[in-house]
Amino acid sequence: MDSPDFRAILERIAEEIERTPGRGRPADYIPALAARDPRHFGMAVAEPDGTVYGVGDWREPFSTQSITKVFTLALDLAREGDALWEHVGREPSGNPFNSLVQLEYENGIPRNPFINAGALVVTDRLHTRTGDAAGTLLSFLRTESGNPGLDFDPQIAASESAHGDRNAALAHFMASYGNIDNPVPVLLDQYFRQCSLTASCADLALATAFLARHGLRADGTRLLTRSQAKQVNAVMLTCGTYDAAGDFAYRVGLPGKSGVGGGIIAVVPGRCTLCVWSPGLDERGNSVAGVAALDRFTTLTGLSIF
Ligand code: GLN
Repeated sequence: MDSPDFRAILERIAEEIERTPGRGRPADYIPALAARDPRHFGMAVAEPDGTVYGVGDWREPFSTQSITKVFTLALDLAREGDALWEHVGREPSGNPFNSLVQLEYENGIPRNPFINAGALVVTDRLHTRTGDAAGTLLSFLRTESGNPGLDFDPQIAASESAHGDRNAALAHFMASYGNIDNPVPVLLDQYFRQCSLTASCADLALATAFLARHGLRADGTRLLTRSQAKQVNAVMLTCGTYDAAGDFAYRVGLPGKSGVGGGIIAVVPGRCTLCVWSPGLDERGNSVAGVAALDRFTTLTGLSIF
């Protein structure tokens, strides 16, 4: 199968986005996110061999936030396999990403690894297995992106912590059911650092490529089995954009994961990975221009999983 002309397609999408009014509003729960200009737009496509194309602000670092939940899931699944699914489910929640309501009915087992409660469980388990969940995540992302300069943003991590009551409540509540191993303050420190990771569209498109390579890392070694890579892609499709996952699947037709920094990663298994960034969000916490750009990408290229 010939590859589409990614460069021309990205240019066309950027022009269309430029002409479209209405970008949504940046997340405002911490100052560092609220300060980003919603007119930023960047998009990158990476092929499985590491070739990367981009447009707009595709090399500008931004706050990755919940996008990191994909990588911690993959890193933990690689270590503990199916035992993870005894501690976190894989059903869409239909609730906002920071919701507490389902936890009591479901005995402290979160619906899926991509809402905050589920991500806290995954980070906790990865921390138990590695002794340093955030460090394991960072070194994986540096290697896969080929960018040794990737790092956490200590100011954002401190802000997350200062505004972290809800995440603290989620962690304590799950701990009361015995579903958290580490002391809650230790877990929260790991989780807030994880959320503060700063990276560009180019970095993230490349770092996600193991999911387009069916589990193989950039150096050809295997992180996930083919079946586990399929599982991660499936959970991204059904749960990666919170209570908008149905609409995202309908419009874009790809496994994807968003973060409140305005980034979204997406996977075309076997073909390519994408990352798009624009800080203005819709009311469900997904980038307005980001979803629109991915929608146009799958329409223009015909590359979707359906
Ligand atoms: N730091 C945010 C939180 O934990 C991340 C949420 C997100 O990107 N959806 O609430």
